[in-house]
Amino acid sequence: MHDVIVVGSGPAGSYLSYSLSKKGYNVLNLEEHKEIGKPVECTGLVSKRVFDYIKSNSRINSVHGANIYFPNGKYIHVRKTEETIVMYRDDFDKDASAMAISAGADVSINSRVMDVSINNEYAEVKYKKNGEIMYAKAQIVAGADGANSTVRKILYRKRPEKIISTYQVDSAARLEDQDDVNVYIGSHNSRGFFGWAVPSGDITRIGVGVDRVNAIKYFKNINKTYGDNKIIGINAGPIPIRYLKKTYGNRSVLVGDAAGIVKPLSGGGIYTGIVSAKNAAEAIDRSFQHEDFSEKSLSLYEKLWKKEIGRELKMDARIQDYYSRLSINDRLLNKIYNAINNENIINKINSLGDIDYPSRVVISVIFKRPQLLKYLIFRK
Ligand SMILES: Cc1cc2nc3c(=O)[nH]c(=O)nc-3n(C[C@H](O)[C@H](O)[C@H](O)COP(=O)(O)OP(=O)(O)OC[C@H]3O[C@@H](n4cnc5c(N)ncnc54)[C@H](O)[C@@H]3O)c2cc1C
Repeated sequence: MHDVIVVGSGPAGSYLSYSLSKKGYNVLNLEEHKEIGKPVECTGLVSKRVFDYIKSNSRINSVHGANIYFPNGKYIHVRKTEETIVMYRDDFDKDASAMAISAGADVSINSRVMDVSINNEYAEVKYKKNGEIMYAKAQIVAGADGANSTVRKILYRKRPEKIISTYQVDSAARLEDQDDVNVYIGSHNSRGFFGWAVPSGDITRIGVGVDRVNAIKYFKNINKTYGDNKIIGINAGPIPIRYLKKTYGNRSVLVGDAAGIVKPLSGGGIYTGIVSAKNAAEAIDRSFQHEDFSEKSLSLYEKLWKKEIGRELKMDARIQDYYSRLSINDRLLNKIYNAINNENIINKINSLGDIDYPSRVVISVIFKRPQLLKYLIFRK
């Protein structure tokens, strides 16, 4: 019998396995794929904060600015002094898993969890390893198995309220400007989200997120400037951008994408997933100390992660709801461009911009330009 079974070896699952193993718990970490970090479904853009948690040499590039393209074809350039890292996501995941293994976790690849059950005595998972059906028991099971979480489907029977579909390619179109991310908004570029092109050395990650429509049409519009003949890889995946109402249960917790703990405005979930894992480790540790694995005991997990990032995620979700409606209204987006294309506002954005806490900058820009509220809410 293990202390904890963690399902999934993405950043959240590996960080949870690492944190619990470091505290002395016996952790079994099950990963369905044959190779940690593959397939890659990510742009790999993260704040430096992420590397305070995961020691990794996966960096390819760093950027300081963004060009935000509006429907009128013009763009606003914003810039920070602090760098944002572009990384090889597969290497990053491998480094995170290596940390878990070094701390003592038993990481089992090619192990797909098919079923989970909870009773008064233990949690049990049924999984297929190298084609063979296996069973494992633990005091607690943690679902860190991503946007399509099996643990969530079986134990929680819920899905995040909003899920963004994406389509992304690696393109051999090398960007001359390696210091700025390009962001594309407006009805030609997305519906409900945005498109991007991220300089990653010799390749460029070009993609789009959309809400309840097919992403390819929008991707093609964005990729026109980069060229179809330069595509060297395609990936796509869902991004859950609303967290579940409840992220814990008897003998179980959900972390990272499995719980929808992702930044609603950007779709970034690596930082938030790791923060959720850190807090899950803390709450699970407390449950072991009290020998109480009940829902009530594990509710501490949700209190802790909400205390750290809950306010930001809630605020971002509200802003994202407004933005989502606005995202196909080119006339209003162009009005917003006119309202914020001003040195004072750009300076404000530059001083407050933070990819992990974006609501601060949005709110302070609205304070400086109250007419933006009218555009956002009244849609005139
Ligand atoms: C196109 C795209 C671009 C993105 N870009 C960024 C970005 O630039 N920055 C950022 O911060 N975030 C980005 N994200 C989001 C980010 O990838 C996720 O939020 C992050 O990977 C969540 O980590 P996780 O550990 O919760 O889940 P995952 O990374 O999804 O890991 C879950 C793991 O569980 C495994 N698994 C699933 N089911 C089972 C099962 N039944 N049994 C065993 N194992 C299982 C999976 O194989 C996987 O390894 C992007 C997402 C997409 C789709």
